[in-house]
Amino acid sequence: MQILDGKALSQKIEQNVASEVITLKEKTGRTPGLAVILVGNDPASAAYVGMKKKACDRVGFYSVTHEMPEDISQDAIENTIKMMNQNPNIDGILIQLPLPPQIDTTKILELVDPSKDVDGFHPYNVGRLVTNLDGFVPCTPLGVMELLAEYNIDVKGKNCCVVGASNIVGKPMASLLLNADATVEICHIFTDDLKKHTLQADIILVGVGVINLIKEDMVKDGAIIIDIGINRAQNGKLVGDVDFENVSKKCSYITPVPGGVGPMTIAMLLSNTLKAAQQHASESH
Ligand code: NAD
Repeated sequence: MQILDGKALSQKIEQNVASEVITLKEKTGRTPGLAVILVGNDPASAAYVGMKKKACDRVGFYSVTHEMPEDISQDAIENTIKMMNQNPNIDGILIQLPLPPQIDTTKILELVDPSKDVDGFHPYNVGRLVTNLDGFVPCTPLGVMELLAEYNIDVKGKNCCVVGASNIVGKPMASLLLNADATVEICHIFTDDLKKHTLQADIILVGVGVINLIKEDMVKDGAIIIDIGINRAQNGKLVGDVDFENVSKKCSYITPVPGGVGPMTIAMLLSNTLKAAQQHASESH
């Protein structure tokens, strides 16, 4: 069994982004800029935003966080996004989800200029992903594809079982795998007999949010396991959706939690923001 080391790869990607930032500044005088909207006081959201900000600092991006109270109005968020759409110093706009219940999240995501949609959540970019055209791809599944490529794992013709079908993880994960010629199955909470499906898979990619959902008897010998879940165990430790201790004895490759997909997500946010900045720079020349 080999560990797919997302931490090591993310550091390598960060170094590349940092050197591309220097080149972009030298050529165009432009510094990539990321704006983050953080609504409410959820500690996990605040922690994620803090990590993203630190990563921006490490690679030399300009970044700004708009912190807004839990009871913020739809209009106030919309106005902030409109401002950032117009702001030439901002290349990427990220809205930390989830938003509070009074907010229409779809409307908010649709308001982001698709050329600044570094999370890849705008329906324009979703459509481009599904039709296999260049655009912005959600960071977590994009990070998974990079990690597989780093270890020369070709998904072409492989049976891939994606467990979890959200717009930010499972669905874009399935699209990327399909675009790379894998045979893809998507399972979710209403899937009957999950084990029947996972047992057929050469690669299981799980992003659900249930501790120990994937157990040893659900995995065929030599399978590749990508654990996207992030959960807080009773002892306070971060764990994924896979029973790592027992499943790791059976599989060929596995991502750890932490240190697997999580750091790759942040690395892809940096890479998407750099891409947006490079595109904006070439448009203004
Ligand atoms: P979500 O709640 O939007 O979606 C969960 C999905 O899992 C749904 O499609 C649901 O049908 C499915 N599901 C729920 N229970 C199930 C079960 N028992 N069996 C099969 N399917 C089941 O969640 P999300 O935002 O997609 O996040 C999923 C997980 O991925 C969470 O643990 C989250 O913390 C993690 N996540 C990690 C990263 C990262 O960077 N590693 C990024 C985003 C999300």
